[in-house]
Amino acid sequence: MSETFEFQAEISQLLSLIINTVYSNKEIFLRELISNGSDALDKIRYEALSDPSKLDSNKDLRLDIIPDEANKTLTIKDTGIGMTKADLVNNLGTIARSGTKQFMEALTAGADISMIGQFGVGFYSAYLVADRVTVVSKHNDDEQYVWESSAGGTFSIKHDTEGEQIGRGTKIILHLKDEQTDYLKEAKLKEVVKKHSEFISYPIYLHVLKETEKEVPDEEAEESKDEGDNKPKVEEVDEEDEKKEGEKKTKKVKESKIEEEELNKTKPIWTRNPADISQEEYGAFYKSLSNDWEDHLAVKHFSVEGQLEFRAVLFVPKRAPFDLFEAKKTKNNIKLYVRRVFITDDATDLVPEWLSFVKGVVDSEDLPLNLSRETLQQNKIMKVIKKNIVKKTLELFTEIAEDKEQFDKFYTAFSKNIKLGVHEDSQNRNTLAKLLRYNSTKSGEDLTSLQDYVTRMPEHQKNMYYITGENIKAVEKSPFLDALKAKNFEVLYLVDPIDEYAFTQLKEFDGKKLVDITKDFELEESDEEKKQREEEEKSYEGLTKSLKNVLGDKVEKVVVSHKLVNSPCAIRTGQFGWSANMERIMKAQALRDTSMSSYMSSKKTFEISPKSAIIKELKTKVENDGENDRTVKSITTLLYETSLLVSGFTIDEPAAYAERIHKLVSLGLNVDEEASTAEEASTDAPAEAATGESAMEEVD
Ligand code: ADP
Repeated sequence: MSETFEFQAEISQLLSLIINTVYSNKEIFLRELISNGSDALDKIRYEALSDPSKLDSNKDLRLDIIPDEANKTLTIKDTGIGMTKADLVNNLGTIARSGTKQFMEALTAGADISMIGQFGVGFYSAYLVADRVTVVSKHNDDEQYVWESSAGGTFSIKHDTEGEQIGRGTKIILHLKDEQTDYLKEAKLKEVVKKHSEFISYPIYLHVLKETEKEVPDEEAEESKDEGDNKPKVEEVDEEDEKKEGEKKTKKVKESKIEEEELNKTKPIWTRNPADISQEEYGAFYKSLSNDWEDHLAVKHFSVEGQLEFRAVLFVPKRAPFDLFEAKKTKNNIKLYVRRVFITDDATDLVPEWLSFVKGVVDSEDLPLNLSRETLQQNKIMKVIKKNIVKKTLELFTEIAEDKEQFDKFYTAFSKNIKLGVHEDSQNRNTLAKLLRYNSTKSGEDLTSLQDYVTRMPEHQKNMYYITGENIKAVEKSPFLDALKAKNFEVLYLVDPIDEYAFTQLKEFDGKKLVDITKDFELEESDEEKKQREEEEKSYEGLTKSLKNVLGDKVEKVVVSHKLVNSPCAIRTGQFGWSANMERIMKAQALRDTSMSSYMSSKKTFEISPKSAIIKELKTKVENDGENDRTVKSITTLLYETSLLVSGFTIDEPAAYAERIHKLVSLGLNVDEEASTAEEASTDAPAEAATGESAMEEVD
């Protein structure tokens, strides 16, 4: 009759963790189960919009909380969509969810149990207070089934023909642990529901045992005083004093009956006037909406009137969720209501992807109720709503930016979203760009905004400069910075992979061109500088030609650079191909289409600095010995390879590079490498000691 199933391994682990660890904050189990019930109600109500007969099995959409002192059980019941037998097997035990493991890791790392809802495994919090859980469920498409488990690795499922038939929905019966019977008390349950589930949009009824006193004729006392009270619900309170002769005797009895008390009578928060709503209320609403355990960072509550009417409450959380950019997760955290009726939390077109972290509700007066998810996407009203939501959230972000401390939190959590927005949203790109913050050559420990950068620009600086690379350490000492520092031009450090995508789209800020200094660009120069540059270019013409001959196809061209100062050389890329940083990012993408790389791959310009002593000396050497001299070739190749590294590229043949360096090290240490290897090979034929010069010559 009853079938036994094994819990999926991770779920089993999670259950033991929940059962065996000592947590004080157990009350959140109720929030999780109520929230599941409310989701189930949302689902059936949504299905019924297109097919009202789906509600026939039970028209009343509600939640009930039923404590039973005698049996020590607490039951949470909903008239939602219910679960079929397959749903029970899959959803409550055999199919792992991505959050299971992450949640366990978070717990081991000291996270609080109350975070469980965010990881999509809230149901199992039932085992915080119960040692056995029974789930009775009835879905329109199946018979009634009972799921039951005392954890311990297995659960059972049984076709339920004997139990009370519930019509449609789910009844979760918690067999409470002995020390958790507090959750049978009316006051406790009220407190917990008020705290965590006040904003659930279906009525939650608490079943309470009410005792009333009633005066009834005391027939027993008249007839026989010895007869006991055998009515179960009526008990005698006190014996009435002997009444005077002739008067009919009465007594007071306590009568107990179950009353259903609605716990969440507040109007939906978004329909109320913002002036009347306290921050605590917004916080409570946010938590109920998001399963977050912390308050929100900021909120915007507004209504739009005119051609189109809707109300919305939008929240920015304090942290990014654990799966912010995971491909499979829902792209939207805003619930859509139509005239107070919940429609969907999956209206993908309600906000753009980069705003997927914003949580809240939107309630439209204009959308039709029986709208399918598919037609939602093409709906014109939806487009206008979306545009307004974006506008309002941008206003909200700009407000947050006025408070540095708040904004730091915001930016730490969601800077990637802002950058994604800059990349994708051409209409709001400029507003979003004002929210960007970067380290720079002048920002010190802090981050700077682009606006502040502009105010610091010297008069003769025309462009805004940035450098791209893997991390701050890699870029802050880059040879590319020298010339800009010398001119007192600030350079922004762009070290997040998404930065370069965003800046390529942004192109300019406040009318100033954004320039990547690892690529080819024209640096502002005075007439004098120009004259000097042209002279140097002329005098180094011979050297650049020779170096190009030595390096061949490895580089596009070799040029004398006035944009380098102390470093002898560097490799710059063309204005339109990939930068070194982009090449690194693209190479790291496992599923990359390699056909792109051939033409996007960076065109490399080998730049040499005439101010560098090394280059000056190299020039003399080439003039004396010619470009075919082995030492010239070796040195050039080595300079080229180190330039690759310092400019953010990787070396194609690291082993050959290492060999060249080892030869240099040998030279520095006066090690006669050839002699020692030759000695090992044949001890009786000592090789000729190589001079420093010839050791270098061997290296190609
Ligand atoms: P989550 O609710 O975050 O998806 P849970 O572990 O709380 O994770 O629940 C797992 C799944 O079980 C839900 O996604 C839902 O499909 C199903 N479920 C849980 N409770 C109910 C209920 N009261 N009615 C219908 N389905 C439910």
